Amino acid sequence: MKIYTKEELNNYHQSLTYDDITLVPEEISEVRSRADINIKTEFLGEVLTTPIISSPMDTVSGLTMVSELTNLGAIGIVNRFDSSLSSLFGGENYSSVKAVSISLTADDKLIEKIAERNFIVCIDTANANNKYVLQKCEDIKKKYNLRVIVGNIANGITLKQLVDSGASAVRVGIGGGSVCTTSIQTGIGIGQVSSVLDTYFARENGKMNISIIADGGVKSPGDVIKALALGADIVMLGRMLAGTKETPGEVIKYNDQLWKKYRGSASFGVKMKGEFIEGEETMIPYKGPVKNIVNGISDGLKSAMSYMNCSSVDELSSKAKFTILSNSSYLERLPKK
Ligand code: IMP
Repeated sequence: MKIYTKEELNNYHQSLTYDDITLVPEEISEVRSRADINIKTEFLGEVLTTPIISSPMDTVSGLTMVSELTNLGAIGIVNRFDSSLSSLFGGENYSSVKAVSISLTADDKLIEKIAERNFIVCIDTANANNKYVLQKCEDIKKKYNLRVIVGNIANGITLKQLVDSGASAVRVGIGGGSVCTTSIQTGIGIGQVSSVLDTYFARENGKMNISIIADGGVKSPGDVIKALALGADIVMLGRMLAGTKETPGEVIKYNDQLWKKYRGSASFGVKMKGEFIEGEETMIPYKGPVKNIVNGISDGLKSAMSYMNCSSVDELSSKAKFTILSNSSYLERLPKK
């Protein structure tokens, strides 16, 4: 079996995603207990105790979700679709909100309000490699000097242009989202592991200052940990948070089971105007409080760091070694009924 460093994995001859790889522990661990492990990280100046960020989707990130994620030491981005944004600026105090998303066409009035509160701005588009997205980023940076997230990219080829336009962070991943039909509709996109690695090495080799958000296709705490080990600074979650109590929308009882809706930002339900549809809508079994999900991730991360003999998330990323799983090895890893 070949063990790969990040560099070697980046040169692998195929595009890879989370289920294709696994972390390989190689040392006698000096960690006595998971309780001794510190998983504190920083993202654009915000200190986090769990390095996850909610996707700015209308069925994931309303004010309740974002506030709760802040309480839990993670971060959320208020979505741009519903009334969340206007209520944010209605005089109420939302000190637990750190980040909001805007559309490419957002006007100066909205951005001024965002600037007054010094929120992180996410320009919520499907493709960061677009002249108008970069222009918007540059405008916001020049006028208000805010922290700006752009997205998405599938590899690091254009990273320098994004950095030059003032982007502070980039969402990495095209075609990997669980309700994304981009690859089916357009034939575009590569595996998430390859996307994150390519972007990571573009940044490191170019000595650029930009945070990497692994976005899409994350199904489990293990995938979050793989993304961090591959060099992501933070991991964006849609489906893992969908269906929890704090998401916008109602709980629906159907066939003796509770459900909540989850849909893509480019799905029919969001667009409805005859625009091109690149996302699906689905129902997710109701999961209860998001706290359980976040705690599951931080516990998984601590345990992984104990296996890997790491005392910080940075160390996990710098010493991580991987191997490729055969299909049968992958199946063997799944619990049996
Ligand atoms: P998930 O965590 O695998 O469900 O992926 C969430 C990510 O999918 C989001 O953060 C977006 O990058 C992406 N996404 C959201 N809506 C759509 C869509 O309608 N089409 C394509 N990608 C989408």
